[in-house]
Amino acid sequence: MSTGLDKDTLILVLDTIRDFGADTMPDEYLIELDTNDEFPEHLVRRMLSELGVSLLFIEEEYGGMSAGTFDIYRVCELLARIDVGVATGVFATFLGSDPIVFGGTEEQKARWMGQIGEEGLLMAYGATEPEAGSDLASLRTTATRIEEDGQIVGYLLNGNKQWISNGGYADLYTILANAPGGPTWFVVDRDAEGFEKGKREDKHGIRASNTAALSLQDVRVGVDRIVGEEEGLGLVQAQAVFGYTRLMVAAFGLGAGWAALDRAIPYSTERIQGGAPLSEKQGYTHKLIVPHAVRLEAARAYMEETAMRIDDGEELLNTEGAIAKYMATVAGNAAAEDAIQALGGYGYTKEYMVEKIKRDVRITTIYEGTSEIMEMTIGRDRWQEHLKSRGAFYHDLGADLEKLALAQPNVGATAAALAHHAFAEMMEIARVQRLTRNQHVLFRLGELAATVECAGALARRAAAAERGELPDKADTRFDAEQLAAVSRVFAREAAAKAAYDGLRWVMGASAPGAVDAAALENAMALREIEQAQSGLIADMDAVADALYGRG
Ligand SMILES: Cc1cc2nc3c(=O)[nH]c(=O)nc-3n(C[C@H](O)[C@H](O)[C@H](O)COP(=O)(O)OP(=O)(O)OC[C@H]3O[C@@H](n4cnc5c(N)ncnc54)[C@H](O)[C@@H]3O)c2cc1C
Repeated sequence: MSTGLDKDTLILVLDTIRDFGADTMPDEYLIELDTNDEFPEHLVRRMLSELGVSLLFIEEEYGGMSAGTFDIYRVCELLARIDVGVATGVFATFLGSDPIVFGGTEEQKARWMGQIGEEGLLMAYGATEPEAGSDLASLRTTATRIEEDGQIVGYLLNGNKQWISNGGYADLYTILANAPGGPTWFVVDRDAEGFEKGKREDKHGIRASNTAALSLQDVRVGVDRIVGEEEGLGLVQAQAVFGYTRLMVAAFGLGAGWAALDRAIPYSTERIQGGAPLSEKQGYTHKLIVPHAVRLEAARAYMEETAMRIDDGEELLNTEGAIAKYMATVAGNAAAEDAIQALGGYGYTKEYMVEKIKRDVRITTIYEGTSEIMEMTIGRDRWQEHLKSRGAFYHDLGADLEKLALAQPNVGATAAALAHHAFAEMMEIARVQRLTRNQHVLFRLGELAATVECAGALARRAAAAERGELPDKADTRFDAEQLAAVSRVFAREAAAKAAYDGLRWVMGASAPGAVDAAALENAMALREIEQAQSGLIADMDAVADALYGRG
């Protein structure tokens, strides 16, 4: 990996945050914050300044530590394991400063990033409005030029922002507003005249994070407050960081999902029902625990690949960020939901924490782009790839996985390859039949693309582990053999999903008789996909053994 912290520093950072979490945020305190709907401002500020978390995302030349995307993913996962609400307070500062980091002039970066680092400032990111959520382009906040002697000397900001994390507490805000030249980010101080913060929102979850509306009435800012000192760059600057920021929210889904499973797993070893611990009951583990661990790890594999690509200098990995966010947050939500089930009646009470984790992780499929917007982004982008490559995009990825399967037959690459080829066939029929006229089909393509690509990433990760070549900063919960079993389980799931869901949506969207279902099944290699399911239960047993430290 070309950038970021060295392994020892990353471990030190993670240990420091973990210890801080254990010392200052025991379960009882987190439950209290949740019940009282209280933002632990002092703890978030201590994390940012005393623990130096702010320094991670500030470049060395401005006094920071220049952590890489991979480092930030590991930190975000850990923060979410502690509490997604507290993590959101930290994340909002990352997010708030992102327009400056990616779009600011050198002078602006030196000024504000220096200040954020030195003073541990709390930031907020003000993009969303009452009527501009998923569709940011419809924002209504305005920035009117103030001109003197034909010179622009400043701007008056007017409008309302909605659902802003840290909204009631931040020291510094980045606010997106429509200037004459188009959407533009402005840096606004908390005590600027005419800038009001609404009362905290009473939320379903992440109640330890502050969310507030903002009102701007003739808030005057100087021209030096335009990020990048040029109007109209706002949406481009917002887009520029999606690959990176969505990976952070993906890490929240991953961390919270694992936090929930890591409560259910020990619980089930102690809880005796039907004469034995629940952990020994396959009907329990293979429904409530194993599939979630597998899906979370599939998302992790994709996140680690994407993080490495960003750290290696690839830009605008928005689709990859979307895939990571979509898969990890859906998996995190499902894991937390089933963790409640896994604890039975206890899971339904506050004391056991899983119901809080479930309410908290729920936000991750909404903020930083909803799951449906992710499906749209992924579906549209991969559709273009399919057309540009004349149908070769997923077949090529499948062929690479077949090569991998030849060299390393145990890592799930065979079924992952089948998943890619089946999906390529579905895309092609969708093209011939012009099925993406249906928005639902396009979104389902997005879902399937994300699933098959994660199967590929997980097979590659398991293969790297088998060769002893995982990146040194990678998570190592599973050893190589265990990871191979995890990968085989997910690859089978992805292949079955690509084939069965693919068939269903193609047939569902086509005119009667337009598609020969039997021919499509053949092209998708349905029979091979079914045969590839053989061994699934044994592999799930192996994953369960890994999770419970058995055998
Ligand atoms: C707790 C919390 C914290 C937040 N923090 C911040 C923050 O710090 N800064 C910030 O700027 N924003 C923040 N947000 C806002 C968040 O990013 C938005 O809520 C989110 O982007 C969705 O926008 P919306 O709420 O307007 O929903 P809408 O865009 O109205 O979406 C409603 C539903 O419609 C679906 N939908 C939307 N468009 C389409 C379409 N074209 N096709 C099909 N379906 C569609 C969505 O997926 C969703 O299911 C926060 C939100 C919450 C709840």
